[in-house]
Amino acid sequence: MPELPEVQTVVSELNRKLKNKTIRSVVVNVPKMISIGPATVSNKRQVASDKVRIFKRLLLNQKILSVKRRAKLLIFDLQGPWSMLVHLKMTGQFIFEDQKQRAKTGGKYRLLNKKTALLEHLPSKHTHVVFYFTDGSVLYFNDVRKFGYLKLVHDDEIGQVKELKEFGPEPLEKHFTFEVFSAQVKKRARGKIKQVLMDNKVVAGIGNIYSDEILFLSGIRPERKVINIQERELREAYANTKKVLAKAIKAKGSSVGDFVRTDGSWGQMGKFHFVYGRSGQKCKKCGAIVQSVKLGGRTASFCPHCQK
Ligand SMILES: [Zn+2]
Repeated sequence: MPELPEVQTVVSELNRKLKNKTIRSVVVNVPKMISIGPATVSNKRQVASDKVRIFKRLLLNQKILSVKRRAKLLIFDLQGPWSMLVHLKMTGQFIFEDQKQRAKTGGKYRLLNKKTALLEHLPSKHTHVVFYFTDGSVLYFNDVRKFGYLKLVHDDEIGQVKELKEFGPEPLEKHFTFEVFSAQVKKRARGKIKQVLMDNKVVAGIGNIYSDEILFLSGIRPERKVINIQERELREAYANTKKVLAKAIKAKGSSVGDFVRTDGSWGQMGKFHFVYGRSGQKCKKCGAIVQSVKLGGRTASFCPHCQK
């Protein structure tokens, strides 16, 4: 699942590419992935065809002012009184093509998949929503698993969006001090540190990949309880949270699973991983074999020598 660095990569690229573009038309192939209003669950009272019609009408002729991020949520700020909230969930992708590229590729796009470098035609069978802009450029929303969503929320109701209300502090912001971090994790003092770091109510945007990497660099085993972690170790975890996330943003994220950048290319952070996805391989620091344990249904990878 894309985490903070992957979502930030998409947000930065879309913000640059979509700023001041006007939506000419929208195609919705899978109505269950769109919704209108602040509610978390898609509004079942709305008939699918009505919902699609309203969704398209609200977006028609709208200029995109900016694309921002909160935790793993993308927020498209539209010129009118609506915002579009998008969650990529497990396998969501945004692919952008400008008019020039479209003329060159004829819609044929090289999507670099983990296992196969396939040449995929866009829109593909996994393209569920398409935005056409007045300047001839196109934005595709692909999602193999279909867990992602696009939600239009009136600006007056944005404070009622449940996900937004529950997110913990943004780890890369200035006001995210050690004191804030420490107070947040200690709210779950009996929790296991990896699961606590992955809780978006504690810190926004950290998932399986970066919690593994943060704990490796901090020398802390993933299954240790917060209450048993010393202040010195917690300070390490705080510093490494900022360090790992900033480095991953610089590398444009990790292309594990289906994550790609908005031009279909891979993020480069994967090659810097110390333990995530490396179970059974040698630790890059000490040569011991990286191990893994199951924690709440997720796999935690760690080095038994470097982490205590
Ligand atoms: Zn090691």
